[in-house]
Amino acid sequence: MKLKLVVIGNGMAGMRTVDELIQTAPDRYDITVFGAEPHGNYNRIMLTPVLFGAKSIADIMIHDFDWYLKNRVTLHCGPDKAVVNVDREHRCVIAQDGTCAFYDKLLIATGSLPLMLDIPGRDVEGVLGFRDIADVETMIEKAASKRHAVILGGGLLGLEAANGLLQRGMQVSVINRADHLLNRQLDRKAAAFLQRQLADKGIRFHLGTTIQRIDSRDRHISAVELSDGSALPADMLIMSTGIKPNISLAKRIGLECQHGIVVDDSMRSSDSAIYSVGECVQHRGELFGLVAPVYEQAKVCAQQLSGQADSQFKTLSSATMLKVTGIDLFSVGNFEGDSDCQILQLIDHELGVYKKIVLRGNIVVGVILYGDTSDSAWYLNLVKDKTPIAAIRDRLMFGQTPLANAA
Ligand SMILES: Cc1cc2nc3c(=O)[nH]c(=O)nc-3n(C[C@H](O)[C@H](O)[C@H](O)COP(=O)(O)OP(=O)(O)OC[C@H]3O[C@@H](n4cnc5c(N)ncnc54)[C@H](O)[C@@H]3O)c2cc1C
Repeated sequence: MKLKLVVIGNGMAGMRTVDELIQTAPDRYDITVFGAEPHGNYNRIMLTPVLFGAKSIADIMIHDFDWYLKNRVTLHCGPDKAVVNVDREHRCVIAQDGTCAFYDKLLIATGSLPLMLDIPGRDVEGVLGFRDIADVETMIEKAASKRHAVILGGGLLGLEAANGLLQRGMQVSVINRADHLLNRQLDRKAAAFLQRQLADKGIRFHLGTTIQRIDSRDRHISAVELSDGSALPADMLIMSTGIKPNISLAKRIGLECQHGIVVDDSMRSSDSAIYSVGECVQHRGELFGLVAPVYEQAKVCAQQLSGQADSQFKTLSSATMLKVTGIDLFSVGNFEGDSDCQILQLIDHELGVYKKIVLRGNIVVGVILYGDTSDSAWYLNLVKDKTPIAAIRDRLMFGQTPLANAA
């Protein structure tokens, strides 16, 4: 008889684990998935092109409802199917509407939630995060009739939202507490290139400040007041100041949690029957916000669930890209460098190209590429593989192609 696997969270990590499991051990489990969104499994990353109009919701589906039928995976989805409790003694999952499912193994993959800052006046219509299909549909609908969009947060998602709403015809302002954009991915020089390019497209920036109050008319946002004393008209405010692991359920059922659900190298939680993957987990003190490590977790978890106990998760460097057409940007690793690092740089203002390579001894530990990212995969491998570069140091700045020609 097959074992029962229940998955909480029909998102990228949970369903990637199911995919891997179906490939490695197709006959081992009867699988039931609970998802709080009323959709099949979709590529969340691609919400950005949906927002700027290059893709539709149908385009970004990874598994539509037919897939679940064909693969005999039971899907319970929609807000009333959100799991609200787990009876760990009887190994039973309970959804909002009372639907129950028993498990031998449980996988929690509840992702994360946008960090909604507690700004006075926040609880009005038009203040939203950028996380799911519902958020994007609201943004697209409002952009059709409203004029002023304000984005709080100059990180990757904030800038992608800003560009998307600009493409939809809105006047867009970005507010960022730090005085340079993408301050977790770029140094000041690269950020200055980026800001100039986005400003040329029409995005307005207010850096080194934040929103201290939200004003409204008839329960709908009308303006934001900034801490520097100025005010901006606002028909929509996108809060893009970070994410927090969605661990309320895991906490309620008594799993060990710190900032995320604590898992070991095999993606197992403090309950040996319960695994966890994705942005809700904390592994060796680290949290996750990009899809590459999350997919690696899914692979390890699927191997564990299929009985390959030697498979272990190791955190690797993940690269950053920005999905804004016409902007080529790449960053990986320790791009600022420490006192024991050496920095190689190339700046061409005319071509809008900036390259920075951070070396510790013989090893590349960080890279920023702006304006020309054609060698990004090569640099990423140098960082990941800790490749000794002494023999190619004189040509390192020029990427892989001159090396290939020289050989
Ligand atoms: C707009 C956008 C752009 C992005 N771009 C990139 C990018 O370019 N590159 C990159 O690497 N990463 C990107 N990311 C991040 C990437 O999407 C995430 O790392 C990935 O989705 C994490 O997968 P997850 O399964 O942990 O969470 P999710 O994909 O969020 O899935 C979690 C699911 O669990 C459901 N859920 C939560 N609680 C319950 C419950 N109690 N019961 C049932 N279901 C529940 C949620 O509704 C959700 O559907 C982007 C994210 C966004 C929002």
